Amino acid sequence: MNEKDYSENLKIYLPPQTADIIAKWMVNLALRITLWKNRKTKLGDFRSPRKPGEKAAISVNVSLNPYAFLITIVHEIAHAHIYKIYGRKVKPHGIEWKDEYRKRMLVFLNNRIFPDDLEREIAHHLKNPKASASADLNLEKLLRNYNVSKIKPTFIDDLKVGDVFIVQGGRQFIKGEKIRTRHKCVERGTNRVYLISGLMECVNLLA
Ligand SMILES: [Zn+2]
Repeated sequence: MNEKDYSENLKIYLPPQTADIIAKWMVNLALRITLWKNRKTKLGDFRSPRKPGEKAAISVNVSLNPYAFLITIVHEIAHAHIYKIYGRKVKPHGIEWKDEYRKRMLVFLNNRIFPDDLEREIAHHLKNPKASASADLNLEKLLRNYNVSKIKPTFIDDLKVGDVFIVQGGRQFIKGEKIRTRHKCVERGTNRVYLISGLMECVNLLA
């Protein structure tokens, strides 16, 4: 897949304005990706090539909310980068990995893609990243607030035209004009248009 394909495929799982950067990193590292529908045991992983000529691969759980998905994919991409440079000579979550993960996460912090509360917690988390976001309890707790089932819902009626929102099940849409009681919304990734009731519950993602 090229950058454009990766970006189109991944953007339904990622916060707005992050897919192009992730796609570029994937292509630069010649990475393959597997998306798991509902794996409970882990959020993601990195697999080094098993034989010459095979590509390194990462996998990420798509049941994660977009912010958790982003943090997980950056975590795995940092593993791929470190593996490419050092092979197995360094620890998986050692200083080299921490530096690489931090550097890549800072791109998104600097682009202000996180809500304020998450941004503060991630800045703190990056001082000494743990082996997984779920090992960082404060971050894990805050991230859970962005699961659609956990958050106090907003109604689509309350959003502005152009806002990006996520609904139960993880699909993302961009809100469009109102047609009587419904809103013309475009699904991110497929670009299909849906008429969605203003009373549907959703979580607003930063546009
Ligand atoms: Zn790891």
